[in-house]
This record gives sequence, C-alpha cells and structure tokens, in this order.
Amino acid sequence: MFDLQKITRKNIQIMKAYSSARDEFKGQADIWLDANENPNETDLNRYPDPLQLSLKKIIAEQKNLSVDQIFIGNGSDEAIDLLFRAFCEPGQSKAILFPPTYGMYEVSAAINNVEVVKLPLVERFELPELKTIKESINCNGLLFICSPNNPTGNCTGFEKIREIANSFDGLVIVDEAYIDFSESESAIALIQTIPNLAVLQTFSKAFGLAGARVGMAFANPEIIAVLNKIKPPYNMNTLSIKAATSVLSSKKDFESQIELIKSERDRMRTELSKLKNVVQIFPSEANFLLTEFTSADEIFQELLKKGIVVRNRSSQIKNCLRISIGTQAENNQLITTLNNLQS
Ligand code: PMP
Repeated sequence: MFDLQKITRKNIQIMKAYSSARDEFKGQADIWLDANENPNETDLNRYPDPLQLSLKKIIAEQKNLSVDQIFIGNGSDEAIDLLFRAFCEPGQSKAILFPPTYGMYEVSAAINNVEVVKLPLVERFELPELKTIKESINCNGLLFICSPNNPTGNCTGFEKIREIANSFDGLVIVDEAYIDFSESESAIALIQTIPNLAVLQTFSKAFGLAGARVGMAFANPEIIAVLNKIKPPYNMNTLSIKAATSVLSSKKDFESQIELIKSERDRMRTELSKLKNVVQIFPSEANFLLTEFTSADEIFQELLKKGIVVRNRSSQIKNCLRISIGTQAENNQLITTLNNLQS
C-alpha cells in the first residue's frame, strides 16, 4: 500500500507553512491594509491569490477534477523541483529515469542531491519490460514517465503506467507537456485509482504561454497539499494567471491552432522523408519531429548559418535533430534550406 507519509521528507512533514496576508483573510473588504502593498491602483499593486482559485476552478471544470487535485506552478519545471523537495530525502531516495528524456529531471535530482537510476528506452523508444523496471525500483523516490516523451515523441500506455505504479513505493510522475498534440488520453484519468501518481501539464506548448510560465500538477489532494505547503507564497504572478485564464476562455482558437500544428507535422514528415540527407523520422505525438540525418552535426551547423535553429540531440540519439513544428512559412523555409544543402 502506498504511504505518502513514508516518502515525504521529515522536515517537510513537521514544518509549518508560511501564512501570507492573502491566506489569512480571503473574504470581501473595502479597505486592504493587511499586506503592506502600495494602495494606489495599477492593476498590479495587490498580491495575487496564493492558491490561484479562480483559474483552478476553470481547469477543474474543464478536466473534471476538484480544485484540491490541482497545483499551479511557475512552469511545470517548478512542480518538478517541488516534487523532489517534498518527496525525496537527499542522499537516500532515488529518481528513476528512462533516457533519452527531458533533461530537467536529472538536473532537479542533482540540485536536490538525489541519485539518478537510468533505465534506457529500448526498441522504438519504449520503456523497458516491467521485469527489468521492477528489478531497479525497489526504493523510494520519484519515477518519471514523459508521455509523449521529449525528445522521442512517443507515448506510454496506461497499462504500463498502472503496472509500474503498482510495483513502486515512491511517486510516479507522468509528464504530459505535449499531450494536447497526441491522440492518446491523458493519464489524469488514472489519478482517482492510482494513489502514487501525479500528472504534469503545461500552458507552454499547445497553449502558447511559454513566456508566462504556467505549469500544472494533478494528483490526489494529499499530494497537492504538500506542494502547496512548500511553494513560495505567491509563486504565480497576476499577469500569468490572467493570461492562462484568457487562454482557457478562448480554447476553441487554440484547438484550431493545435489541429494546424498537427497537420503541419504530417506535412513535414512527408517533406522531410523526401530528402536524401534524412535517414528516418520517428513517429511523433508531439509538436516536434525527431529526425535522423546522415550527418546531424553538419546539418545543424549549416542550418545555423542560414539562421535556423533546431535542437541537436545527437549526443543522446545518434545523428538526430529534434525539429519543432513552426508556422507554415517557417516549415517551408526549413525544407527549402535542407533541399539546397543537398544540391
Ligand atoms: N516537461 C517536458 C517534457 C518539457 O519538454 C518541458 C519544456 N521543454 C517541460 C516539462 C517544462 O515546461 P514548462 O515550460 O511548463 O516549465
């Protein structure tokens, strides 16, 4: 049986959370003299709601969750760091990763003095067999499944997530930063039945707010309460909360953008596959294509000279560049440039 107490850092369990002025009085008032703010109205002179309740209510409704199952952070990167600070004991707990994957898991583990156990992806970038995973997860800590995975673009099925969570005493984190570009269902559907599961999503990708830094974690209320206990009191600023709220009210516009990005992804796959210097393009459920070239380093440098930056992942996956899907015009320019490189 999963026991959250067992994996929560002892100092976090016994500490008292900071109580801000906005935590202590939440009602309606005419005069606010409780938070040492500047009283002159600028739209930003007041501290924001520490728990971002108005935004969470909209998210809760759209995702069929309760507000206490949602954490909002300064990007999902903040949630990743807080998960380490809450649920890993430095020098004792482990972080289980399936590389190649998103780099911040390892960085946050290092910052928190948590040892990383790497179980490399196998054929078609799938997770290793359950038997192999089980041999390495007889420990406490965090296990990260990035789905769709960055940089490989593929998803992990629910059955595998369920089996892994069942065999692990720590917390399983399913990072769904790219889920809106995927046909797969979100693992949020599993949090009601898997107590040691947290799901991460973000406004940075499909919803165009990378600059606003708004990430979300979904899990059972006990896990969310610990994250809320240790987060900085006003971790989300008023402008970013407004931006995220506004995106959710124009969800239809973003849904058509997502459809366009997906159709551009299909078109780019076709166009890239016609090039002689492309060896293969891996299947992708995200807004990028992991593409193997005859010589990735060379192509990467040549593209840079033409003012086009892609992500060189060849140190992780031989001869591979990760190419984000841009606008139609940007994608065309990339194809033309790549075409010219081979002539
Ligand atoms: N998870 C994955 C898989 C990512 O690729 C990224 C950003 N590249 C993040 C999380 C971080 O997202 P955010 O902007 O919400 O911090």
